[in-house]
Amino acid sequence: MNSKISDKVLQWYDANRRTLPWRYEQVQIADPYRVWLSEMMLQQTQVDTVIPYFQKFTAKWPTVNDLASADLDDVLHMWQGLGYYARARNLHKCAKTISEQFDGAFPRSPEELANLPGIGPYASAAIAAIAFNVPATVVDGNVARIVSRVFGFSTPIQQNQKQIYSAAESLTPLLRAGDYAQALMDIGSGICTPRSPKCQTCPLHTDCKAYASGIPEQFPGKLIKPSIPTRYAVAFICIKDNNILLRKRTGEKMLHGLWELPGSDWYADSLPELPDEMQAPYADVKHTFSHFHLITRVVQASEIDPEYLNGAEVACNINELDQLALSTLTKKLLKVRNRNG
Ligand code: SF4
Repeated sequence: MNSKISDKVLQWYDANRRTLPWRYEQVQIADPYRVWLSEMMLQQTQVDTVIPYFQKFTAKWPTVNDLASADLDDVLHMWQGLGYYARARNLHKCAKTISEQFDGAFPRSPEELANLPGIGPYASAAIAAIAFNVPATVVDGNVARIVSRVFGFSTPIQQNQKQIYSAAESLTPLLRAGDYAQALMDIGSGICTPRSPKCQTCPLHTDCKAYASGIPEQFPGKLIKPSIPTRYAVAFICIKDNNILLRKRTGEKMLHGLWELPGSDWYADSLPELPDEMQAPYADVKHTFSHFHLITRVVQASEIDPEYLNGAEVACNINELDQLALSTLTKKLLKVRNRNG
């Protein structure tokens, strides 16, 4: 049954594959750099969002050696809007490692790939399969959902990783592993969707236990997510003579390497109290990260209490902000100024 399933998946792929800028007709000509770059960008991000970023990156840095020689600031700047900036820092670190320690050639085995910065178990298997046709078992969220449904697993994915992996492994073909992995990605994003799977058009519907049950959308079960906490901060918009005060986030902080407005730390309980003389016009802005909400009181001030400065502030021309790597949060906070004039 299992080779029958992979045959059906591959036949379907030959007729229905999506055309994407990092895909190749034959694995023999696949460029591991482009495969790796796409996999790094696609983590936590939709294909449609990734495409323009992928095109910009490959136009500016056509090879891994080009990316390795780039300034981290330029990479972060180009990454703006994709979020999860640790990925961009790891991307740069990984490019440097490949360039300096592997002479610009990506290793082929999932084990070696998994030792590189930013490449986890899923990405190492995906790169090995897609770039080198290694029959690695590739399991991302889409594949886990398809496998759970075909085998009729009702346990939530997060609690059933081992069973899903070994079921996925039993289906992985020895030949055309890259096409097979990409086929499942396409089926997962276009057919076997979380809420309304289009089973009638699915190449697996005669093999699928969830389909046979009549309630495929209820497989696998859902984990009830705990609600995420809220943190609070104050940030200042201080503009003089067309220059705005900004500073770079440093150390191991989230978003480090990106520019931000000066302000307080992110507190876990409530908005920090402001001194009376700082009660200037303000707006509260909510931004949600993966693990918490952040409510920032954005104050437009002509002076900033030194308590909120850390010495790294720089006056930046307000008309040249697009040349700096700003997080989505900072861009959102800056809009307060545009709203209030
Ligand atoms: S038959 Fe339906 S539930 Fe089963 S894998 Fe295909 S789309 Fe998913």
